[in-house]
Amino acid sequence: MKALVKEKSEVGLKLQEVDKPKIKSDEVLIKVKATAICGTDLHIWNWDTWASKTIKPPMTVGHEFMGEVIEIGDNVKGLELGDRVSAESHIVGSISRNARAGKLHLDPDTVNLGVDRDGAFAEFVSIPFRNIVKLPDSVDDEMGAILDPFGNAIHATLSFDLVGEDVLITGAGPIGIMSAAIALHVGARKVLITDINDDRLSLAKTVSAVETLNPSKENIKDKMKSMGLKEGFDVGLEMSGSEIALDQMIDSMLMGGNVALLGLPSDTINLDLSKLIFKALNIKSIYGREMFETWYKGLALIDSGLDVKKVITHSFHYTEFEKAFQLLNEGKAGKVILNWC
Ligand code: NAD
Ligand code: ZN
Repeated sequence: MKALVKEKSEVGLKLQEVDKPKIKSDEVLIKVKATAICGTDLHIWNWDTWASKTIKPPMTVGHEFMGEVIEIGDNVKGLELGDRVSAESHIVGSISRNARAGKLHLDPDTVNLGVDRDGAFAEFVSIPFRNIVKLPDSVDDEMGAILDPFGNAIHATLSFDLVGEDVLITGAGPIGIMSAAIALHVGARKVLITDINDDRLSLAKTVSAVETLNPSKENIKDKMKSMGLKEGFDVGLEMSGSEIALDQMIDSMLMGGNVALLGLPSDTINLDLSKLIFKALNIKSIYGREMFETWYKGLALIDSGLDVKKVITHSFHYTEFEKAFQLLNEGKAGKVILNWC
């Protein structure tokens, strides 16, 4: 089969012929139809410090995908040939304290698809059946391919009660943009998203009726006044990984406000901890998706009319992968789909 492979310790990926995966008794084989490129895949492409420490070439990468079940292991339950599916890309164990307590997203033995084991940028991918999520008709193929980052947005955004609350999101990447739409859909009062890239702010506006601000050009305090905020935002969602953005968020929060941290800084950052403590902020770190509550909530919100599909800006055949990665590296895209049919 054809697959996008990190062949050697160097920048880029190669389109290669590799063996079709063999499934274990608790796994299914998926014929991949659509995949999406994640920031993680960009790190792997660019072979940065994190990637070179984590990835063991040669390896097929990619973890955001949807497709069709074409082979079923002997111990698989609840799935049939032909099912349209996506999957949770974090493959958890069963023996840690958290796994045994049912807190699967907190299992330290988690194996990541396309990072620790061969991934989904391929014609076929194998995965344990417990990771599979069946797709309802309300989710089309392209949306099915981005449920993983949509799930990051759902997990972070639904961490706190948002009804009637004012929300600040820093970072209008695909996850921040989807979070803004989710926050408005579930009843937040005012939602402001910030980014230093104006294209990203324009994209945010096409996905939802969020207020936008470029902090390198405008003052966030003035914007808060014009939005009718007196004391600060009730909820903050940090989705940029930027030290500056986090600092601006702390300054803009209401005392005792709730902050979810999802953005990953590329290096160690400076944080004025006393400022955070004197504001008595409640901080929650977000990793992955809650299994599988995040998936149920996300699909239910799509069913109830939430539509974030405009965050997908480009769609390519997998043979055009170089063009797709270039576009993302230039910061000129939202979510980018690679089709495998
Ligand atoms: P992305 O890199 O596409 O988006 C980040 C955005 O932040 C960019 O648009 C960038 O211009 C913006 N930004 C940079 N500096 C800024 C500043 N000072 N103020 C405001 N915005 C600024 O990423 P994404 O795919 O949307 O993911 C968001 C973040 O979440 C990334 O850091 C990613 O690595 C991380 N992530 C975390 C998890 C998790 O489980 N915690 C999962 C997936 C992604
Ligand atoms: Zn991802």
